[in-house]
Amino acid sequence: MMDSVRVTFLGTADAFNAAGRAHSAYWVEDPHGTFVVDYGPTTHMRVRALGFDPDALDAVYVTHLHGDHIGGLAILLADLQWRARRTRPLVIAGPPGTLDRLRLLRTTAYPSLLDRGLRFPLHVATWQIPGTVAVGARQVSAIRAVHDSSACATSFVVETAGRRIAFSGDTAWQPGLVDLSAGTDLFVLECTELEAKTGGHVSLADLRAHRDALTSRRVVLSHLSDETRPVCTAEAASLRATIADDGLVIEI
Ligand SMILES: [Zn+2]
Repeated sequence: MMDSVRVTFLGTADAFNAAGRAHSAYWVEDPHGTFVVDYGPTTHMRVRALGFDPDALDAVYVTHLHGDHIGGLAILLADLQWRARRTRPLVIAGPPGTLDRLRLLRTTAYPSLLDRGLRFPLHVATWQIPGTVAVGARQVSAIRAVHDSSACATSFVVETAGRRIAFSGDTAWQPGLVDLSAGTDLFVLECTELEAKTGGHVSLADLRAHRDALTSRRVVLSHLSDETRPVCTAEAASLRATIADDGLVIEI
């Protein structure tokens, strides 16, 4: 059993697979097992390409209910059901609405998955916003993100084995991100826009203005777009941030 917590960046792109990267998702191995944050349409491909075993997952934590963050869950469930022949339970945890959205995904992609049930117990848990819940052996503390309200977007901190990792999910800049970063070992922060324009994403301009307020030990930028990846890379030193690329591994 490992002492440390190892985070592998499966994907680091925005919804449109900018720069040919996979959808943003993070595979995390800790002393309790293995979890993944978000599961987009390209996530399963990355899990298999990196040689990870999908059946090793004990939990999936979902930041919000947009396709680039949950679109691969039907593939994951189908794999566990038919290829991996899983028997032990899986937890999928996310914001309110996760159960209904998951049902939609399953009935649309593989109706028989729902009709005949699964061979393994699937527990769907939701957290209050804001709120802290124990999900498996870990604690997840969520706040509301500023994004498409129909996606019930959250940012959260996962606390496990004495480490704290913050995930912004998709959100416009808000002071809550400063609070979220406090006391964390790692902050996986989205940066999709150069200047704030949609009202639903962190921009590079926001980061330049607010980077000093973030107190996480390490800030890693992800969910990068065609526009932000090259500029963030050029400014990494002054942003005091790591610019994530697919396959990045960080051990804390
Ligand atoms: Zn997204």
